Amino acid sequence: MMEMGRVYIDHQRIHLEKFSPFLQCHKCLQFGHMKTRCTSQESFCSHCASNEHQLSDCPVKNNRNTAKCRNCHSHNTKFNVKADFKHPANSDSCPRLRAMRDRIANKVDYRSA
Ligand SMILES: [Zn+2]
Ligand SMILES: [Zn+2]
Ligand SMILES: [Zn+2]
Repeated sequence: MMEMGRVYIDHQRIHLEKFSPFLQCHKCLQFGHMKTRCTSQESFCSHCASNEHQLSDCPVKNNRNTAKCRNCHSHNTKFNVKADFKHPANSDSCPRLRAMRDRIANKVDYRSA
Protein backbone atom coordinates (compact mmCIF):
# COMPACT_ATOMS: atom_id res chain seq x y z
CA MET A 1 0.00 0.00 0.00
CA MET A 2 3.01 2.27 0.55
CA GLU A 3 4.46 1.74 -2.93
CA MET A 4 1.81 3.17 -5.18
CA GLY A 5 4.03 3.13 -8.26
CA ARG A 6 4.79 -0.51 -7.87
CA VAL A 7 1.18 -1.51 -7.32
CA TYR A 8 0.28 0.37 -10.47
CA ILE A 9 2.98 -1.43 -12.50
CA ASP A 10 1.91 -4.83 -11.16
CA HIS A 11 -1.65 -4.07 -12.11
CA GLN A 12 -0.55 -3.13 -15.63
CA ARG A 13 1.44 -6.30 -15.97
CA ILE A 14 -1.44 -8.50 -14.90
CA HIS A 15 -3.64 -6.72 -17.39
CA LEU A 16 -1.10 -7.27 -20.15
CA GLU A 17 -0.65 -10.94 -19.33
CA LYS A 18 -4.39 -11.40 -19.45
CA PHE A 19 -4.61 -9.63 -22.76
CA SER A 20 -1.86 -11.70 -24.36
CA PRO A 21 -1.17 -15.22 -23.10
CA PHE A 22 1.96 -15.28 -25.20
CA LEU A 23 5.00 -14.27 -23.14
CA GLN A 24 8.59 -13.89 -24.17
CA CYS A 25 11.25 -12.93 -21.67
CA HIS A 26 13.22 -9.85 -22.71
CA LYS A 27 16.15 -11.02 -20.66
CA CYS A 28 16.82 -14.66 -21.59
CA LEU A 29 14.50 -14.62 -24.66
CA GLN A 30 12.73 -17.82 -23.63
CA PHE A 31 8.97 -18.21 -23.62
CA GLY A 32 6.40 -18.45 -20.89
CA HIS A 33 7.59 -15.86 -18.39
CA MET A 34 8.37 -12.18 -18.14
CA LYS A 35 11.72 -10.54 -17.43
CA THR A 36 10.52 -9.74 -13.89
CA ARG A 37 10.21 -13.48 -13.16
CA CYS A 38 13.34 -14.53 -15.00
CA THR A 39 15.71 -16.84 -13.17
CA SER A 40 18.46 -16.59 -15.79
CA GLN A 41 21.78 -15.13 -14.65
CA GLU A 42 22.51 -13.74 -18.08
CA SER A 43 20.62 -11.53 -20.46
CA PHE A 44 20.84 -11.86 -24.21
CA CYS A 45 20.47 -9.60 -27.20
CA SER A 46 17.28 -10.47 -29.05
CA HIS A 47 18.93 -9.64 -32.37
CA CYS A 48 22.28 -11.43 -32.34
CA ALA A 49 22.02 -13.59 -29.16
CA SER A 50 25.12 -12.03 -27.61
CA ASN A 51 25.20 -12.01 -23.81
CA GLU A 52 27.45 -8.96 -23.81
CA HIS A 53 24.85 -6.36 -24.67
CA GLN A 54 21.12 -5.75 -24.94
CA LEU A 55 19.25 -5.00 -28.13
CA SER A 56 19.34 -1.24 -27.43
CA ASP A 57 23.16 -1.40 -27.46
CA CYS A 58 23.49 -3.95 -30.23
CA PRO A 59 26.18 -2.78 -32.68
CA VAL A 60 24.72 -4.85 -35.54
CA LYS A 61 20.97 -4.54 -34.94
CA ASN A 62 20.38 -2.79 -38.27
CA ASN A 63 22.06 -5.55 -40.24
CA ARG A 64 19.58 -8.35 -40.93
CA ASN A 65 22.35 -10.74 -41.90
CA THR A 66 23.73 -10.73 -38.38
CA ALA A 67 20.49 -11.88 -36.75
CA LYS A 68 20.77 -15.02 -34.69
CA CYS A 69 17.88 -16.54 -32.77
CA ARG A 70 19.00 -17.85 -29.41
CA ASN A 71 16.03 -20.21 -29.10
CA CYS A 72 16.44 -21.77 -32.55
CA HIS A 73 20.17 -22.02 -32.16
CA SER A 74 19.94 -23.86 -28.85
CA HIS A 75 17.12 -26.02 -30.25
CA ASN A 76 19.42 -27.04 -33.11
CA THR A 77 22.20 -27.90 -30.71
CA LYS A 78 19.90 -29.83 -28.41
CA PHE A 79 18.21 -31.90 -31.12
CA ASN A 80 21.11 -31.97 -33.55
CA VAL A 81 19.11 -30.36 -36.35
CA LYS A 82 19.87 -27.47 -38.68
CA ALA A 83 16.80 -25.28 -38.62
CA ASP A 84 17.09 -21.69 -39.74
CA PHE A 85 18.19 -19.43 -36.90
CA LYS A 86 19.13 -16.34 -38.87
CA HIS A 87 16.34 -14.18 -37.53
CA PRO A 88 15.85 -12.15 -34.35
CA ALA A 89 14.58 -14.10 -31.33
CA ASN A 90 11.35 -12.12 -31.29
CA SER A 91 10.72 -12.38 -35.04
CA ASP A 92 7.35 -13.55 -36.32
CA SER A 93 9.20 -15.88 -38.68
CA CYS A 94 10.80 -17.77 -35.79
CA PRO A 95 9.57 -21.39 -35.88
CA ARG A 96 10.01 -21.77 -32.10
CA LEU A 97 7.98 -18.64 -31.45
CA ARG A 98 5.27 -19.83 -33.84
CA ALA A 99 5.16 -23.25 -32.20
CA MET A 100 4.77 -21.64 -28.80
CA ARG A 101 1.96 -19.40 -30.08
CA ASP A 102 0.17 -22.40 -31.55
CA ARG A 103 0.45 -24.29 -28.29
CA ILE A 104 -1.13 -21.39 -26.44
CA ALA A 105 -3.84 -20.96 -29.07
CA ASN A 106 -4.79 -24.62 -28.75
CA LYS A 107 -5.12 -24.25 -25.00
CA VAL A 108 -7.55 -21.34 -25.19
CA ASP A 109 -11.05 -22.29 -24.16
CA TYR A 110 -13.43 -20.74 -26.66
CA ARG A 111 -16.56 -21.99 -24.92
CA SER A 112 -16.47 -19.07 -22.54
CA ALA A 113 -16.10 -16.50 -25.33
ZN1 LIG B 1 13.88 -15.18 -18.81
ZN1 LIG C 1 23.21 -7.83 -30.44
ZN1 LIG D 1 13.97 -18.60 -33.87
